[in-house]
Amino acid sequence: MDYRTNLVGRTSAEIGNLLAPHVDREYRGRQVAQWIIDRNASGFYDMTNLPLVLRRDLETHFSIEEPEVLEVVESSDGSMKFLFGLSDGVGVEGVLMREGVKATFCLSSQAGCAVGCTFCVTGAIGSGRNLRPEEIVGQYRAMLRRLDVEVERVNIVFMGMGEPLLNTGHLGPALAVLSERVSLKRITVSTAGILPGVYWLAGLKKRPKLAVSLNAPDQGRRAQIMPIAHRYPLVDLMKALRKFPLERGRRITFEYVLIDGFNDAENDARATARLIRGIPAKVNVIPLNEDREYFPDLRRPPAPVVDRFAAGLRDAGLTVTVRWSKGEDVAAACGQLRSRESSLGE
Ligand code: SF4
Repeated sequence: MDYRTNLVGRTSAEIGNLLAPHVDREYRGRQVAQWIIDRNASGFYDMTNLPLVLRRDLETHFSIEEPEVLEVVESSDGSMKFLFGLSDGVGVEGVLMREGVKATFCLSSQAGCAVGCTFCVTGAIGSGRNLRPEEIVGQYRAMLRRLDVEVERVNIVFMGMGEPLLNTGHLGPALAVLSERVSLKRITVSTAGILPGVYWLAGLKKRPKLAVSLNAPDQGRRAQIMPIAHRYPLVDLMKALRKFPLERGRRITFEYVLIDGFNDAENDARATARLIRGIPAKVNVIPLNEDREYFPDLRRPPAPVVDRFAAGLRDAGLTVTVRWSKGEDVAAACGQLRSRESSLGE
C-alpha cells in the first residue's frame, strides 16, 4: 500500500499548499506544479531544476500516480483506444483522436454507467463507481504521453464511460486541473440530461462547453431509449437549456444517435429543429455504432437516410455534423465503451 499523497488531479494552488512544509522557497511549489501539470512529468527525479535533496524528500512523501495503460488499440482512422487499469482493479477506457494539427481526448468519468441508454454498451454493462479527479486527469496525462505528433489544438470531451454530471463532486476538481492546461472553451461535458447536473454547470463561474444527448424529438421515444428521461422529462430539460448561460460565440451541442426506423424520419428532423429552435446550437448526428452482441435488433440507417435527416436539420438553419467514422463514433456516441475488451478497429 502506497501511503504517499498523490499529486495528480490537484491544482497548482493545491500542490503549492501540500508542498509548503517541505520547501524552503515558495516558488518550489510552483515549479513542481509546472512539472506535473504543464510538462506532464511522471517522476520527481525528472524535475531537474529542483535540488536533488528536495527531489528525494518529495519522493518519500508524495507520488505522481495515474491509471495504468493496459492496452492501446489503434483504429484505421488513427484513433487510439486506451484500456486503463485503476488501483482497485477496475477498468475504464479513453479515446485519443488525431486529425491533422488537432487532438481530441475523450475521457471517462465513471467505471460503467447507471443511466442505461438502450443503445449504449456502457449502459448495458451497468453502473460502476465514480472516478476520482486523479483518475480522470490521469487518463488525459497517460494519453498525452502517447501523442507522437505535434498538435496545435487540444480538445477534451467527457463522452467516454459514464455520465459526468452524476459525478460532479469529482468532475469539478478535475475540470479545475485540466483547465490549467486546456482552455475551458476546448473542454466539453456531455450529459444524458441530468437536470441537477445541468444546474450545477450553469452555476459555475467558469464553465466548459455543454453537449446534450438528445436522440429523439419527443418525450415518448426519448424515454424509450433513455430511461433517465422518465426522471428528467424532455420538457424540463429544454426549459433548463433555454436558460443555460452561454458565453459569447458558444453553442450547445445536441447529439443525436440515429437508429434505423426509430428516429430517422424526415419528420423527426423537422421536429428536432422545432424543439431546439431559439437555442444557439449545433447538432452532431451519429449513425448508430452497431453492436450485434448487445443490441442485435438495432441497426444503423442506410447512408441516404442519414443524409436526408442531416439535410432536414440543415434546411431548418442548423449547423450539423455527421459522425461516420468508427473512431469518432466511439467517442461521440457518449459511451460506446466497455472497459474489458477493445472494440476499436474490429
Ligand atoms: S450513452 Fe452515456 S449516459 Fe447513456 S448509458 Fe451510455 S454512457 Fe451512460
